[in-house]
Amino acid sequence: MDNQKPVSKHKHIVLTSHPHRSAQKPAIHWGKSDPIERGPIIGTLTNANQRNAIGTHSGSYAVYRALAIASGALQANHRPDLTNTSPVVRIGPHPSWADPDRIISLDPFGAIVGEVYTQFYEQGYDIRPTIAVTKAHINMPELLDEVAKGELQIDGKILKSNGNLVVTKVAIDPVWYLPGIAQRLQVKESDLRRILFQQTGGMFPELVTRPDLHVFLPPIGGITVYVIGDVEAITDPNRLLAVRIHDECNGSDVFGSDICTCRPYLVHGIEVCIQTAQSGGAGVIVYFRKEGRALGEVTKFLVYNARKRQEGGDRADAYFARTECVAGVQDMRFQELMPDVLHWLGITRIDRLVSMSDMKYNAIVNSGIQIVERIAIPEDRIPDDAKVEIAAKQAAGYFTPGEVPDAIALAGIKGRGLEE
Ligand SMILES: [Zn+2]
Repeated sequence: MDNQKPVSKHKHIVLTSHPHRSAQKPAIHWGKSDPIERGPIIGTLTNANQRNAIGTHSGSYAVYRALAIASGALQANHRPDLTNTSPVVRIGPHPSWADPDRIISLDPFGAIVGEVYTQFYEQGYDIRPTIAVTKAHINMPELLDEVAKGELQIDGKILKSNGNLVVTKVAIDPVWYLPGIAQRLQVKESDLRRILFQQTGGMFPELVTRPDLHVFLPPIGGITVYVIGDVEAITDPNRLLAVRIHDECNGSDVFGSDICTCRPYLVHGIEVCIQTAQSGGAGVIVYFRKEGRALGEVTKFLVYNARKRQEGGDRADAYFARTECVAGVQDMRFQELMPDVLHWLGITRIDRLVSMSDMKYNAIVNSGIQIVERIAIPEDRIPDDAKVEIAAKQAAGYFTPGEVPDAIALAGIKGRGLEE
């Protein structure tokens, strides 16, 4: 075929699945407080001899990068020009950064590699940031509705009269320290590595052939943090902190689907964050790309059909069972890894946790963070068709300040049919 374009002069494949000359490979000592002692994490592909991590940067977007290179749009040896990309707000270092058990699923130095690893850059090392910190205005129409109802106040600084909300936002790519992940999940590291290798279709041979490499950049979605108010207030024991941990639900969060409470609860979390920030504290929204309890949207939509078509229609008492039938489990989110981002922010106490999930609550408390108060979604924010979900969750032990539905009540809570 003569219409194919040559994409790279270097067609040989460098296998990294076995240890080789690696004088250039910096050692990683996970959990060291000094970034030089800890060592930079290098997952870039421009120089195989420098690599000290398995996998590569940008999570699942690495596959799009491969397409860009394959199609000739991007040079394989491109190095980013990082001029003016450094964080706009300083976060850390916090004592938790130096605790090898506290943070195992992100690189605490990920935002400041350009600052702490200058000597490596001068020697030609290709070190990429895994965290970026910027500022923005966001605007969600529900916030102005709450202003009109008198539930929220415009202050002109945090919440502006046009409904714009001033935020600091942080994007975080996952960086896994495998011994720590294994310990957190209470499995053997060798089993974890073997199953990660097998269940990605053998995508990362180094998981099983390179026990000398302990850091893995997994091809999964990351985290976005929205901070409302003064970032300094997050770690100030004399100021209040509100937090919502939100797992992605594209259908509701973006498109306003009425089958669940995700967007209304996210908005309520933001409101509590605004009120807390306006009283001198801060609010933190942590948004995880764990669509549909980390089962993905295809599974999620299959479950919707199974729920709506089952005998007796969509019922709260069969809500979890339908998910389990399709996915094999009710949930794949592994909240055990979730508190890492809170520790990265230096959080030791949450005054208002805007969440009803016991899994999240327990994971946060077990990681050593104090929770003072839990805030449920207000009744009037729950869409009609989402009553199935919320009742099922309450009956399963999710936090609720109201009555927990019993078996009879649960069987009576029904959602719309598929064609309605
Ligand atoms: Zn949802």
